[in-house]
Parts: sequence; structure tokens; C-alpha cells
Amino acid sequence: MGKTRKKIDIYIDKELCKGCDICIELCGENVFMKSEHINSRGYYIPIPVALDKCTGCMICELICPELAVIIEKSELVKETV
Ligand code: SF4
Ligand code: SF4
Repeated sequence: MGKTRKKIDIYIDKELCKGCDICIELCGENVFMKSEHINSRGYYIPIPVALDKCTGCMICELICPELAVIIEKSELVKETV
């Protein structure tokens, strides 16, 4: 019998991001880290470095003032042996 779990993907719109770091600070799972990538407006953008720790709580998406974070959840069926 299969066991269902959520698969989570995190997308950050690099050009919308203004590098405020709120998502880095407010994620309780420390999923984000500041990257060395600078967008066209001169801001260092965050990257998800610990996607496996993400609980899908949506806080980062809801709190981002630029609406630059998108959390995408999809159902996955994981087979048990
Ligand atoms: S909260 Fe939004 S604007 Fe701020 S660093 Fe994170 S993605 Fe960028
Ligand atoms: S959805 Fe929640 S756990 Fe996942 S990266 Fe955003 S704030 Fe962190």
C-alpha cells in the first residue's frame, strides 16, 4: 500500500526580490541562506539551501513584501515495500 506525502518546491523571483532577508530570518527551519547572486537592482537574493527541512508552512510566501517567494506543494505517492 502506498503512502502519500507532500513534495515542496520553492521558487524565488530573483528580479522581484529586494534582498530584505525577512524570509531568511522568519523561516523557523532555516531553509534559506543569502546567496552571492546579485539581481539587476543590486540586491543579494536568498536561496533555499535546506529544501528537505521545509514544512510548507507558507510563512515566507506570505511575509515577502515583494511577493517574490512561491511555495508549490504537490502530492506524491511514495511506495512502501
Ligand atoms: S522576503 Fe522576499 S524580498 Fe525579502 S529577501 Fe526574501 S525573497 Fe527577497
Ligand atoms: S514554507 Fe515555511 S518552512 Fe518552508 S521555507 Fe517557507 S517559512 Fe521556511
